Amino acid sequence: MPLLETTEKQRLDLRHRRDLILKAAVQEGLLQREGDLLAAFIDLDGVDENIAHLRDSFPSDIRTLHAFAAKANCLVPVLSHLEDRGMGCEVASEGELAQALEAGFQADQIVFDSPAKTFRELRQSLSLGTTVNADNFQELDRIKMILAESPSASPVGIRINPQVGVGGIEAMSTAGGTSKFGISLEDEGNRERLVEAFRNNSWLNRVHAHVGSQGCPLSLIARGIAQIVDFADEVNQLLGRRQITGIDIGGGLPVDFQSDSPVSDFEGYVAELRASVPRLFSGEYLIITEFGRSILAKYGFIAAFVEYTKTSGGRAIAITHAGAQVATRTAMMPESWPIRIGTYDADGDPKTGPAVEQDVAGPCCFAGDLVARNRPLPLLQPGDIVSLLDTGAYYFSTHFSYNSLPAPAVYGVTIDSQDKVTFRVLRHAETIPELLLRSGVNEAAEPTSTQEPT
Ligand SMILES: *Cc1c(COP(=O)(O)O)cnc(C)c1O
Repeated sequence: MPLLETTEKQRLDLRHRRDLILKAAVQEGLLQREGDLLAAFIDLDGVDENIAHLRDSFPSDIRTLHAFAAKANCLVPVLSHLEDRGMGCEVASEGELAQALEAGFQADQIVFDSPAKTFRELRQSLSLGTTVNADNFQELDRIKMILAESPSASPVGIRINPQVGVGGIEAMSTAGGTSKFGISLEDEGNRERLVEAFRNNSWLNRVHAHVGSQGCPLSLIARGIAQIVDFADEVNQLLGRRQITGIDIGGGLPVDFQSDSPVSDFEGYVAELRASVPRLFSGEYLIITEFGRSILAKYGFIAAFVEYTKTSGGRAIAITHAGAQVATRTAMMPESWPIRIGTYDADGDPKTGPAVEQDVAGPCCFAGDLVARNRPLPLLQPGDIVSLLDTGAYYFSTHFSYNSLPAPAVYGVTIDSQDKVTFRVLRHAETIPELLLRSGVNEAAEPTSTQEPT
């Protein structure tokens, strides 16, 4: 199929589907000026198409585990949807592990990564049999202690920092010379120490790297993966046995926040890997991936009412109900995380009209709470609706409770061939009683304990 045709079709589809979803949401009362002032939507058909696309991009004759990075969207029904489609799950805390288990993932489909795993987390993971990727030598010693007490079915890997450099967003880059993640391959003595760790611990059977997220060019990621594949080959050769059986290449495939096309370039990524790391596809290794953003970002959006509009210093400003509480990175680091804004009228129809430069602000009480600055858009009015695009990963699913703004409802959406839109609640909007509960409302006034001075 010619690539251009596909991307053009996808572009039209994504946009068309968002418009249908927004219109139907207004008609069904999922957005109401005196009710839910904002809501988030995930186009589940789009997600399914994308997952099929991911699968098709990797060679079918090589064993792969595509473990979705739970931090990108940790809602249990979302994880459960991905589990149904045959994905695995990458987790990095006790909470994410609980979410993955609740979503129905089998332990052998779960990969536990975190630079700060506690004894308790390690014991739990090893007793369940999830894959554990150790971050450092101290953690390896802990794992060794636990395994001496009780054997485990867990594959155990070690995270390597291939030190290939940083991408466009330093805070998102994990393979700089001094990154906090993994064991640096090039630091004095580390390579030898790692080989010894594999030699002395036959249960150590995977290598892992995650070079970085948004902003890292594919060639940089591929260079990092080449380093760990070379290292795995070297270890197996030195030990004279195939001890390393799996290579975890992490996630980090960037998405295009500027347009609806291209959607997720899994094919281009695999082509880059095939060119720079052919040994990854030798068939000797299970390939584990940990994509997050590239699975979901493009298929989710937030919609929120405009409450007021004004001008300040000559600048038009629309004050909406979606800001830093659901678009935290965009508000805090606007240069690194620009997002597109869609505009609709109160009936949910796309707004037209001449573009006027405007700030689109959120409801939070700090001046930086903007999701777009000086953006040319049809002039917004109170009662209009804005959409924050490409926010399916790392946005509404990881709500920031500033100003005690509640977590918004999230709906999964499917659209049939007749354009009939069906919504399913993936998370209800947080209620005021729930909000009070997490504010300590029911905690007893009496002290729980008193310690006498010794
Ligand atoms: C965040 C993270 C991922 C997912 O990254 P994306 O950019 O969302 O694909 C994968 N693996 C690890 C270890 C991570 O920290």
